[in-house]
Amino acid sequence: HHHLQLPPETVFVAFLGLKPLTCTLIQLHVCVCLQWEEVSIMDEKNIPIRTYQVCNVLEPNQNNWLRTDWIPRSGAQRVYVEVKFTLRDCNSLPGVTGTCKETFNLYYHESNEDRESYIKESSFIKVDTVAADESFTQVDVGDRIMKLNTEVRDVKVMMRKGFYLAFQDVGACIALVSVRVFFKTCPLTIRNLATFPDTVTGADTSSLVEVRGSCVNQSEEREEPKMYCGADGEWLVPIGGCLCNPGYQEKGGTCKACSVGFYKAKSSDAGCSKCPPHSHSLRDGATVCDCHSGFFRADSDPPSMACTQPPSGPQQLISVVNETSVVLEWAPPRRLGGRSDTSYSLECLICQTGSHSQTGSKLCLPCGSDVLFSPDQTGLKSTRVVVSELRAHTHYTFIVHARNGVSQASGAGAAQSVSVTVTTNQAATQNVLSLSWQQPDRPNGVILEYEVKFYEKDQKERSYRIMRTFSRSVDVTALNPLTVYVFHVRARTAAGYGEFSSPFEFATNSDPFPLIGEGVNSAFLLLSVSGVGILLLISAAVFIISRRRSKYSKTKQDSEEEKHLNPGVKIYVDPFTYEDPDQAIHEFAKEIDVSSIHIERVIGMGEFGDVCSGRLRVQGKREIYVAIKSLKAGYSDKQRRDFLSEASIMGQFDHPNIIRLEGVVTRCKPLMIITEYMENGSLDAFLRKHDGQFTVIQLVGMLRGIASGMKYLSDMSYVHRDLAARNILVNSNLVCKVSDFGLSRVLEDDPEVAYTTRIPIRWTAPEAITYRKFTSASDVWSYGIVMWEVVSYGERPYWDMNNQDVIKAIEEGYRLPAPMDCPVVLHQLMLDCWERERAERPTFSQILNMLDKLIRNPGTLRSEVCVSVLPEVCVPVSSVCEWLRSIGLERYGDTLAAAGYTMHCHVKKMDLYWHLIITFLRLSMLKQTSLHVSFEHV
Ligand code: AMP
Repeated sequence: HHHLQLPPETVFVAFLGLKPLTCTLIQLHVCVCLQWEEVSIMDEKNIPIRTYQVCNVLEPNQNNWLRTDWIPRSGAQRVYVEVKFTLRDCNSLPGVTGTCKETFNLYYHESNEDRESYIKESSFIKVDTVAADESFTQVDVGDRIMKLNTEVRDVKVMMRKGFYLAFQDVGACIALVSVRVFFKTCPLTIRNLATFPDTVTGADTSSLVEVRGSCVNQSEEREEPKMYCGADGEWLVPIGGCLCNPGYQEKGGTCKACSVGFYKAKSSDAGCSKCPPHSHSLRDGATVCDCHSGFFRADSDPPSMACTQPPSGPQQLISVVNETSVVLEWAPPRRLGGRSDTSYSLECLICQTGSHSQTGSKLCLPCGSDVLFSPDQTGLKSTRVVVSELRAHTHYTFIVHARNGVSQASGAGAAQSVSVTVTTNQAATQNVLSLSWQQPDRPNGVILEYEVKFYEKDQKERSYRIMRTFSRSVDVTALNPLTVYVFHVRARTAAGYGEFSSPFEFATNSDPFPLIGEGVNSAFLLLSVSGVGILLLISAAVFIISRRRSKYSKTKQDSEEEKHLNPGVKIYVDPFTYEDPDQAIHEFAKEIDVSSIHIERVIGMGEFGDVCSGRLRVQGKREIYVAIKSLKAGYSDKQRRDFLSEASIMGQFDHPNIIRLEGVVTRCKPLMIITEYMENGSLDAFLRKHDGQFTVIQLVGMLRGIASGMKYLSDMSYVHRDLAARNILVNSNLVCKVSDFGLSRVLEDDPEVAYTTRIPIRWTAPEAITYRKFTSASDVWSYGIVMWEVVSYGERPYWDMNNQDVIKAIEEGYRLPAPMDCPVVLHQLMLDCWERERAERPTFSQILNMLDKLIRNPGTLRSEVCVSVLPEVCVPVSSVCEWLRSIGLERYGDTLAAAGYTMHCHVKKMDLYWHLIITFLRLSMLKQTSLHVSFEHV
């Protein structure tokens, strides 16, 4: 049957036992599968597997559908469909030209019905046309070799409880081997002591799901813990976190109680600390350690301070009496009890050996308030006091008490003291005497007043004077100098006067008050000498810090001022320094005759009006394509000035990576700014349109151009302030040029408005956000963000985080991670641009050198992780296997496999490396071997 095309595989059949020279009819029935069919085949291990097959390659217009059962969505918003299939190459099928296809279509249909019996073709939505990939692996099936393809597609499913998948064959020879449907979650994790639950990723490939963490047991919130679950199932941007409660410390992501002998007082303390000296904790989880007996802690003592004791008494109290003043000096206690807050207080008593008392014991009364203590009576830090204004011829007892912060707690009170008894001699004054006395032992009721009777001894009682007082002391004035007086005192109660006391004799004097004190200044001198010593130490430390250099030595930032002195460098002139804006514009821009401009179409929308493209023909030159920005009608004076200022700025620049100003039209309306035309428009939109289509070298080439333009601007002392991919324009040769010289002006004009509404937060350096410090170094920060935008093909920096969170994350040290497939060196350069200290950031000239070096050595631009065993040896590796080999640990492949890490040699994902590090660290701990693995990049 010549007209019958045999099925693709030629089958050989041997017919045995036929009669020689006999005509035998052999009938061959060929079974052709017209629809999808469930067929058993043998897999590479000879195990039968079920597949769905279709192979109508001979007939045109095939439309064969195969549909799955209903698949519940289970909360997922984006599902992934992994299809494994084999597909016959049409070339290997003879005679099928025209009808044979090499693709099939994948469809889905969302539904709440889990048992739809019939679904119209038109209700399915197409996911993609799937073709066999080149990266197949070969599978032996019996004596044939099949090419097993694996393709993954993802689709947003959000509307219904579940969905159906369908496969449409349009005339290919396919066997569907497996279909795996899955969605991604960010796995339950603990970060900064907060637990983040297993979270289903968002619906879009760029969406971030904001998740609030909850503090782990025995911890409290430091700042609300937050993280974002990225579309790929990885956690991003941890913010905030928790702290272990007092008595607990962090260990492996949980809070563990401090053990016996340890304590933690505040949640913000780093960890449990050993109990300070003379204290102990007897139970786990102590927030403070108890003092050993005999030791104490003052209320104001921090828990970290050792327990202490009250001081012993002051020593060697010496008194020097000078008439009615006394200098008291003593030595500090022998034991200070472990504290430095010893202070002294003085008790002053007037004592008298009572002549009426048979026992001869001393009667002591507190001194009156008229006695002066210098520097003070209580709270003394010094060990010397001058007591003056004492009464003449009186016996005083002074008691010096030593106390410290724990005297009260210990109940030691006044026990630590020394005393001295002195007797004053003559009064400082010639005609005044101060008397004081004690209350009678057993008064007969409340004492209403005292009566003092006195007279000159020589005169006996022939003439005497009486004084009455409510207090127990009195100053007797108008006495004669150098005279002896006799005094009697009696008390009066409601019952009348009691008896007069026995007589006391006192003499008035005439001598001057003596000078006291010596050597006072020597102690002070000693103090100030040690003060100078401390001062010297501090200034030495400051010197050392300021001499520390970053790896990008701050030549540029430092030389900012020097540059103004350098006559060779052209400096940008701010057009706003011109009183007349038209003068500036005519100095820096050429006036173009409007008739030489031919506008063609609108290409964009600018701040002041439409942006059009068109042609410009200037006499004597060939026609060129230009972009034309115009100022819309009804503008204010300020708008006109702002509009033209961009041209005045641009006109000062002449560099291949800065947008070139052709000229302006100011003599007729509308006002126009004419610049060179950049065919590919702004860089961010351009990259998004060509996602994934450039080589790393091409991307670095673009970045080099931008860096070169920025170096030129910074050399001219121009600070851009709004460097972002949206403000870079791209021409047809992929040359990038810096444009948009508007923001600097806006910021200066109205700092308030600009500050709150116009700062492009995501692109701006922290110091520029917080205190408007815009410099070339803040432009470098923005350049780092542009690098990130370029390598991620126009992804929005910090995705859909809000501005406040971005500021907070940056403040906490978070930096954008490397975009997919980003060479380590490039990400490192970004991180350098995002140094908090602006002096540590590279300058544009250093960035340019670096990029030139990378372009000359493209090998350094591989996106692999650089892993090293020794810090100084860094080996770029392209696979886990190679990495293991590079650190001499390939034998651990099995261990890792057992731990669930499948050894795909082409896996490049960073997080896998992380898992590996952790596994290795565990492994090395288990085996008690030391394994030093350091990661250059991670
Ligand atoms: P601008 O006001 O400078 O932000 O311009 C608004 C938009 O117009 C830009 O985002 C570009 O898409 C487009 N545009 C501006 N200048 C040019 C140019 N020289 N060549 C091509 N497109 C331009």
